[in-house]
Amino acid sequence: MPYQTNESLWGPEHQIFRETVRKFIENEVDPHVDEWVENHDTPREFWLKAAKAGILGVDIPEEYGGPGGDFLFRLVIAEEIGYSIAGASMAPSLIADGTSEIVYRSANEEQRQKYLPPMVRGEMLFGLAITEPDSGSDVSSIRTTAKRDGDEYVINGAKTYISQASIADAFMVVARTSDVPGAKGLSMIIVEADRPGFVRGRALKKMGTKASNTGEISFQDLRVPVSNLLGEEGRGMNLCLGGVNMDRITWPLIAHAASQRAFEETVEFVKNRKAFGQTIFDFQNTQFKLAEIKTELAVGRAFLDDVIRDYKEHGRLDTQKCAMAKMWLPEMEARIMDTCVQLHGGAGYMDEYPISRLYTAARLHRIFAGTAEIMRLLVARSI
Ligand SMILES: Cc1cc2nc3c(=O)[nH]c(=O)nc-3n(C[C@H](O)[C@H](O)[C@H](O)COP(=O)(O)OP(=O)(O)OC[C@H]3O[C@@H](n4cnc5c(N)ncnc54)[C@H](O)[C@@H]3O)c2cc1C
Repeated sequence: MPYQTNESLWGPEHQIFRETVRKFIENEVDPHVDEWVENHDTPREFWLKAAKAGILGVDIPEEYGGPGGDFLFRLVIAEEIGYSIAGASMAPSLIADGTSEIVYRSANEEQRQKYLPPMVRGEMLFGLAITEPDSGSDVSSIRTTAKRDGDEYVINGAKTYISQASIADAFMVVARTSDVPGAKGLSMIIVEADRPGFVRGRALKKMGTKASNTGEISFQDLRVPVSNLLGEEGRGMNLCLGGVNMDRITWPLIAHAASQRAFEETVEFVKNRKAFGQTIFDFQNTQFKLAEIKTELAVGRAFLDDVIRDYKEHGRLDTQKCAMAKMWLPEMEARIMDTCVQLHGGAGYMDEYPISRLYTAARLHRIFAGTAEIMRLLVARSI
């Protein structure tokens, strides 16, 4: 059964696109995802195929090689990835295409012309490198430096937990360009991976989302031209923050769609599995748990729809509501996934059952793109 979503939110063009994404996942992801999970990576051809299917850079304007759609196309992708079992293993990989939106929003004309067309064609992969071994939620403590030397920056430092670290061709690196302490000294600089001094570290082994690459990179006296600076010096944090609402609605949508899928997988399982002469579904405990899940799903979806409707009506996402969504939906998902695993019994712990992969993937959603605690801080500021 396809993911049921409020049809009034989407135009006919989004619904057609939804079918495209569904077919792409069915034909190009589902058959291969187990192999990718084994390798902890998504192969390079995947990006070319995704581009050919028209699902990269969906909101990039035509003059830069994109189809010029609106942001809602990205949300359609999020829902379809979230609902698919394969998506549980590789969502961060495909969502990393959001880097094209950051380039579009932050770059000057020359940079847009240079980077966006190959990104949309799947020929150039970008990563976003903010997190460091000693700096995660507290971005202002970033230590990587980019020191000006004539018309070049000399970059030194290390980044970790970076999506696409082993495979990306270039990274948007947040680095310190001045001695001004805190976030004001930070800038965002494009670093191509073929420059001398660029070092790829380990690909990290994760508990879930195993088909999506995550790893380490470092820079040793790496030189880039000053023209690789995105925006202005000292505005790196602002460029990061400019896209946070996008992440803070995308991941809650993925969390909701994955929870819906977990619910459906569990209903199917408990109606077939028997114990003590009846199906697991026949126990009142099971029915009560499923009733609670169904209700949480409806409540969560109503809030998400409200956030999306805001965007449709005002052309922008509401920062407070996005923080609330990023805080609440992944926690709803955690409750649902835990109950669904429990209702599966031992099968729920086995990798061959979809619920197991949905469960480990869900654990990520409370951590990255801003932890649940950081979202609480943001919401609390408005009280
Ligand atoms: C699979 C995966 C992919 C990732 N991809 C990328 C990527 O592509 N690029 C990138 O730059 N980063 C990426 N990250 C990193 C991610 O953004 C960070 O892990 C996240 O921001 C949290 O930072 P941290 O791990 O350093 O935890 P910390 O910031 O050290 O936090 C540890 C704990 O302390 C809590 N905490 C921190 N500050 C406060 C506070 N003020 N009040 C209360 N509690 C607090 C946190 O909520 C958390 O529970 C990825 C991470 C993962 C797991």
